[in-house]
Amino acid sequence: MSTETTKTVFEYAPAPESRAVVDIKASYGLFVNGEHVEGRGTPFKTVNPATEEVLAEVAEADEADIDAAVKAARRAYEKVWGPMPGKERAKYLYRIARIIQERSRELAVLETIDNGKPIKESRDVDVPTVAAHFFYYAGWADKLEFSGYGTTPLGVAGQVIPWNFPLLMLAWKVAPALACGNTVVLKPAETTPLTALLFAEICQQADLPPGVVNIVTGAGRTGQALVSHPGVDKVAFTGSTDVGKAIARAVAGTDKKVTLELGGKAANIVFDDAPLDQAVEGIVNGIFFNQGHVCCAGSRLLVQESIADDLLARLKRRMSTLRVGDPLDKNTDIGAINSAEQLARIRELSAIGEAEGSERWSPACDLPTTGYWFPPTLFTGVSQAHRIAREEIFGPVLSVLTFRTPSEAVEKANNTPYGLSAGVWSDKGSLILKIAAELRAGVVWANTFNKFDPTSPFGGFKESGYGREGGRHGLEAYLKGADQ
Ligand code: NAD
Ligand code: MG
Repeated sequence: MSTETTKTVFEYAPAPESRAVVDIKASYGLFVNGEHVEGRGTPFKTVNPATEEVLAEVAEADEADIDAAVKAARRAYEKVWGPMPGKERAKYLYRIARIIQERSRELAVLETIDNGKPIKESRDVDVPTVAAHFFYYAGWADKLEFSGYGTTPLGVAGQVIPWNFPLLMLAWKVAPALACGNTVVLKPAETTPLTALLFAEICQQADLPPGVVNIVTGAGRTGQALVSHPGVDKVAFTGSTDVGKAIARAVAGTDKKVTLELGGKAANIVFDDAPLDQAVEGIVNGIFFNQGHVCCAGSRLLVQESIADDLLARLKRRMSTLRVGDPLDKNTDIGAINSAEQLARIRELSAIGEAEGSERWSPACDLPTTGYWFPPTLFTGVSQAHRIAREEIFGPVLSVLTFRTPSEAVEKANNTPYGLSAGVWSDKGSLILKIAAELRAGVVWANTFNKFDPTSPFGGFKESGYGREGGRHGLEAYLKGADQ
């Protein structure tokens, strides 16, 4: 592996955000029927991936716990939440959104401690987008007759989410479900349960009727028990493609409605007329945002051959200025990898990239000695057959491929089993529109990347899953349809 010989020296003083604002308990139970209750399974620990410090012990929900949570959700659906007029449901959602804003610093710090993402992201991206999502769907609650999908909710939603955007994925799942009149049982990922448990407190603070939101913690077994429970009418899952396929098999032949948001391997395509410095910022944001733990990360850079040398020189220079380290430091660009398992996966695929003959490069950077860390990494000389170009790495690792013509760019971009997102960089609007129409991806960003807004639907083609979250389209997943 080659590294830069000169190291960028920073003169900033450390600027850590205080963690005094959060109150982490030694142990957490489940949140069922409006109360914190003990779990019957074997408790597990969640750690701070930046320090390996054990933060708390968390209850594991077993099948009996899932059954109790689903029954609580059913009662709340039938007796309180389903019959409640939309304009009354909206008041609760607005209240939750406002409490999220009021407690935003606490939520951001806790998210960063449990997940490893930089505070500047949890503070400026995750938490504001979470609040925006609740505000947006609060607005729909009394306007469902204009949704185009009817006004009848499905019942109880079983929702399983991953660890990369713990609170944001919760908001994407819970806000539309509640707005439409469903009740939910949500399972956060086992490495990042703490903000979901803080959200349970926020539900209590908002006086949300008991059983409308239930939070059950645990790993794959708990998730499996939830999605296969016969009392669940709707399954919503975000996570890996393999688990998504297992869930699709588990619910096949039942009446359950399913949405799956799975993996991605997005192409970020840079044409020779693109503003290069702006493109470099977009490439960096596309792959190093949230340590690359992003399903829609721009992990394949497709650059037009004539500008490849220039662009890569600028990209390397920019990568040398990225600050990797303490996620609570306000100057940090790249935080900790979420878990030892994920770090092992990133290392393994990167080693395969080298073995396959790609050239690996990282800027010189000192990584902390405890915790899970990986430097920003670039692979050049990558061919389409290489595993690093085909498989989702879900880390700060970028594969660079080149192309000569627009049609070659489209062909390479679409040469993946996934289809979640893509980026196009060009000065020509006509070229952008033509390429965007030919790309098989749910979201195409033009001259920008990783922009999220609650009004905009998000979801995939092919193995990236089915169904849309966000926007008016996101209501479809939680309503029976216009004809019923
Ligand atoms: P994962 O599939 O292993 O886990 C996701 C969730 O599913 C966790 O809560 C986990 O406990 C649970 N789970 C595991 N096995 C299960 C089973 N058999 N039945 C039910 N639930 C089960 O994924 P991960 O490694 O935690 O997350 C990373 C993956 O998520 C990446 O592949 C990424 O692309 C994907 N992702 C997709 C989106 C999207 O919107 N498309 C967003 C974020 C992450
Ligand atoms: Mg954790």
